[in-house]
Amino acid sequence: MSDRLAKLKETLAQLNRLYMISELLYWDMRTIMPEGGFEGHAEATEHYQTEAFRISTSDELYELLQELSAPEEWEQLDDDWRFIVKTMREEQERDRRIPEELFSRMVAAQTASERAWEEAKKNSDYSIFAPHLEKLIALTREVKSYTHPELEIYDALLDDYEKGMDSATIDRVFGELKEGLVPLVHSILAAEQPDDTKFRVTYDLDAQRKVQKLLLTYIGFDWSKGTVGESEHPFTLDLSATDVRVTNHFREDNAIDPMFSAIHEGGHAIFEQNVAPKLAGTVAGGCRYLGIHESQSRFFENILGRNINFWRPIYADVQKLQPELADISLEEFAREINHVRASMIRTAADEVTYCLHVILRYEVEKAIFREGVSVAELPALWNRKMEEYLGVVPANDAEGILQDMHWSDGSFGYFPTYLLGSIYDGMFLEAMEAELGSVDELLAAGRIGEIRGWLNRNIHQYGSTRRPKEVLREVCGREATAEPLLRYFREKYKKYYNL
Ligand code: ZN
Repeated sequence: MSDRLAKLKETLAQLNRLYMISELLYWDMRTIMPEGGFEGHAEATEHYQTEAFRISTSDELYELLQELSAPEEWEQLDDDWRFIVKTMREEQERDRRIPEELFSRMVAAQTASERAWEEAKKNSDYSIFAPHLEKLIALTREVKSYTHPELEIYDALLDDYEKGMDSATIDRVFGELKEGLVPLVHSILAAEQPDDTKFRVTYDLDAQRKVQKLLLTYIGFDWSKGTVGESEHPFTLDLSATDVRVTNHFREDNAIDPMFSAIHEGGHAIFEQNVAPKLAGTVAGGCRYLGIHESQSRFFENILGRNINFWRPIYADVQKLQPELADISLEEFAREINHVRASMIRTAADEVTYCLHVILRYEVEKAIFREGVSVAELPALWNRKMEEYLGVVPANDAEGILQDMHWSDGSFGYFPTYLLGSIYDGMFLEAMEAELGSVDELLAAGRIGEIRGWLNRNIHQYGSTRRPKEVLREVCGREATAEPLLRYFREKYKKYYNL
C-alpha cells in the first residue's frame, strides 16, 4: 500500500471516530434522552459535526486526494479505492465551497427547527413551525448555490439523496404510476371493504417486543451486529456494518404497524450488515442512495411481508406471542395487512395508497423550489391534493402537513426516494423470480434465506459502489420503469378486492 493510501485510511479512521460520537448522540437523543438533555446534546452534536466538516474539507485532505488521483498513484488503486477517492473528491470539492459559517448556521437552524416541529405537531399549530421552515428553505437555497451551481435547485436536492436520479426520470416513472394507480385506488376504495372489528382490541406491549424479535430473527437480522431501541418514529442507524440499530414504536391500539415497522427497518439493517467488509469505514461502506436503500426495506416489508406466504411458517408462533391474534385466522390476518384505506398518515398507509402520499409530497416540494409557492400557502395546497388523490381532507395540520419530520431538518428531496424504492422493488421481484422461481413458493416453504441471499449477492455486498441507475442496469438489465410495480399491484389487489 502506498504511503498516501495509508494516510487516507488514517484520515478516514479519524472521521469515523467523530461520526461514531455524533451518531451515538443522535441515537441517544431519539431514544432515551430526557428533555433536559437537549441543550447539551445539541451543542455537542454541533461541535463534532463541525469538526468532521473541517477535516473533510481541509486543504490537507484536498491535496492528498489530488495526489492519489495522479497517474502513478491511481494505477495502484483497485476499483473500490478508485470509487472512494473519486467520490470523496467530488463531495469535497462541493463541500469546500460552503463557507464554514454558513454550515454552522445550517446545523444550528436544523436543530432548532426539529424542536419547533415537535412542538408544532404536538399542538397541531403550523405557525410554530412555519418561520423555521421558511428559514430552512432559504438556507437550503443558499447552500445549494455553493454546492451545485450547475444544477437547478430541485435536481440538486434529488441528487443528494439518490445520485443521478433527476426530476426528468422521476417525472416519467411517477407519471406512469400515477396514471395507472389513481383509477386502481378509486376502484379499490369503492369495492367492499374487509371487516376489521376483530383487530380493534388492546394489545400487550411486551408481546409486541417479542414479536419484533421473532420477525427480525426470521428475516435474517444479525443480532451479533445489531440491536433495537424505541423512539417516536422508527429508524435505522448504522454506526458500522457490525453495529446496526433499529427502533420501533409500540402502541396498545395497533399490533400490526409495529410488525411492519420491524420488518421495514430490519430490511434496512440487513442491507447494512451485508456490505462487503473491505468497504467498511469508507464512503462506499454503506448504502448512500436512499432509493436503493428504501427498495430493500420495502422489499422485506411489502413484497415479502404483505404476502400471505411469508406468514405461513411463522403465524402460529406469532399468535402464541401475541394472544390477541389467537382467534384470527391467517387468511383474515392477510386480508387486514392488505387492507387499502384512504388514510391521512403516510406512515400508516397501505402499500398502494402510500405511493400517492409520496407523489403529493414530491409535487409540494416542486411547488416550493420551482414555483416559489410561499410557506403560508402550503397547508392548503397539501389539503387540496389529499382530496384530489384520496378523497379525504385532514382535519388539522398535525394529520396534514406537520405529520412528517423530514422537512423539519431540511431534508427536501428525500420523500421521492421512498417511492423510487417501491418502483425498483417491482423490477427486482421480476428479476429475482426469473432466476429463483416463484417467491410465493419460496416463502411458503420457509426458504426466505434464499431470497435474502439473492439480495445480498445482487445488491447489498456492493454498498455504494454501484450508483442507482447502474444497479438497475446490472440487476434488471433495464432503465427505471413503474410497469412491473403496477402489474404487481393489479394482480394482487384484483384478487383481494374481486375487481
Ligand atoms: Zn425506510
